[in-house]
Amino acid sequence: MAIDQLEGKNILLRNVIRELVSRILEVDKTYLPFAILQLEKDVTSIFEFQSGKVVKLFGIIDRVDEKDGSLRIVDYKTGKVEKRKPTAIEDYFNNTDYKEQFQAMYYAYLTNISIPGRQISVGLMALKTMKEGIWMLNNGEPFSAEQFTQFESHLKELITRIFDSKIPFTQTDDESGCKYCAYKEMCHRGE
Ligand code: SF4
Repeated sequence: MAIDQLEGKNILLRNVIRELVSRILEVDKTYLPFAILQLEKDVTSIFEFQSGKVVKLFGIIDRVDEKDGSLRIVDYKTGKVEKRKPTAIEDYFNNTDYKEQFQAMYYAYLTNISIPGRQISVGLMALKTMKEGIWMLNNGEPFSAEQFTQFESHLKELITRIFDSKIPFTQTDDESGCKYCAYKEMCHRGE
């Protein structure tokens, strides 16, 4: 359909998209020169446990930029992002307040495997607060090899717990995400 044939809701959507693209370009201008290396890229990795169990890790990374040989991952968020700073890598795993940060570091971890030997930093951009630009994790510093090692160790622990048949699945204590949960009908939370 030609642009001049758009009607109703589609015109509104077009205007929203124009506004978002224009704001992203404004933010990008402040980071020049850089190259966009990847967009909406599927990334996988394999975990092999001593027990012989093999787990496939997967993520779709919104965007990876390259500047002076270093990589910057940008994770776009439709909602608001609370700029909470974890004090240690284990905070990503123990506190759901850091779920956006956890996801972003998980992407950095996968990128470190798929494109090894690069400095990798990661930032979040909330569509509702785009004027504030990209909020960089880890105080804007690239993650260190030690941080990735710690992250991997905690991730392995987490996956081991998920597969441990002696640990039952229970309803979360944090009900804030239940409203949007795909399993809420099955779960009967709050009944
Ligand atoms: S609705 Fe149930 S399954 Fe979904 S997050 Fe809440 S407790 Fe977990």
